[in-house]
Amino acid sequence: PRTVAGMDALPAVHPRPGLPSRVSVYEVGPRDGLQAEKTMLPLPVKLELIDRLGETGLGIIEATSFVSARWVPQLADADDLMARLQRRPGVRYPVLVPNERGLERAMAVGADELAIFVSATETFAKQNLGTTLDGAIDMAAPVVRAAKREGIQVRGYISMCFGDPWEGRVDPAAPAAVAARLLELGCSTISLGDTIGVATAGHVLAVLDRVRAAGVPRDRIALHLHDTYGQALANVLAGLEAGITEFDSSAGGLGGCPYAKSATGNLATEDLVWMLDGLGIETGIDLMKLAATSRWLAATLGRPSPSRVVAALGI
Ligand code: MG
Repeated sequence: PRTVAGMDALPAVHPRPGLPSRVSVYEVGPRDGLQAEKTMLPLPVKLELIDRLGETGLGIIEATSFVSARWVPQLADADDLMARLQRRPGVRYPVLVPNERGLERAMAVGADELAIFVSATETFAKQNLGTTLDGAIDMAAPVVRAAKREGIQVRGYISMCFGDPWEGRVDPAAPAAVAARLLELGCSTISLGDTIGVATAGHVLAVLDRVRAAGVPRDRIALHLHDTYGQALANVLAGLEAGITEFDSSAGGLGGCPYAKSATGNLATEDLVWMLDGLGIETGIDLMKLAATSRWLAATLGRPSPSRVVAALGI
């Protein structure tokens, strides 16, 4: 295989006027990625993964989930993981919390940033969360209120903002209405999820317009894009043009898409950083260290990373 190393392997930098000069990459691999993997990683491997990700310069690493182990057995070690996590100064380690029980567990192990999740559609709320759209928000509300009392910030995820495996196309008014409710509830950032990866660039802009019209400012919005149909980076560029400055991604593209027969789910962090580097947009992330980490993890999982950049770098 072709092997390139050092500066030659990085893209040429050609900034575009009107794009943000810096964006936050919100790394979801250890949580969203691992919960979708069939392989159960031992706790020391997870801790090494999070540590290596912190070493790459990532500033936000979602560490785990306090969803019941009955639903997500891959992350059943969340309490131990948080207790043993070596926090790097300047790195945030949010954890996913489904309800007040999850909140208690997260607080008991010193979590200092949280994320809750709701749905833009009724069917996904029923199928995946066992409740209604309103019921999911009602479940999240006491978590957000209690966290805010402790001075802890809470991110709100909205699933199925662009398409739903049961309902098909989703009206942009649906995620916009839910985003407005999460803002009112007190979520610090609202992550719009293209959970099945069906969004295209114009669709992203249409949803962002509706969300802003519903009263949610652009600087409170993050995009959680999936590469199922190869559209994730085009959709990121649309988001950048609209002034979005936080993007979710998963190291090495960890985690497939549970709703499509595809190995490609989460946008790979390397693919995102490659494009941002080429645009001269600051992320603070060392792409080579990140790709090396994904290589190591792919070897541990026993399958190649779906990231195109990891494959192309050949390191
Ligand atoms: Mg995802």
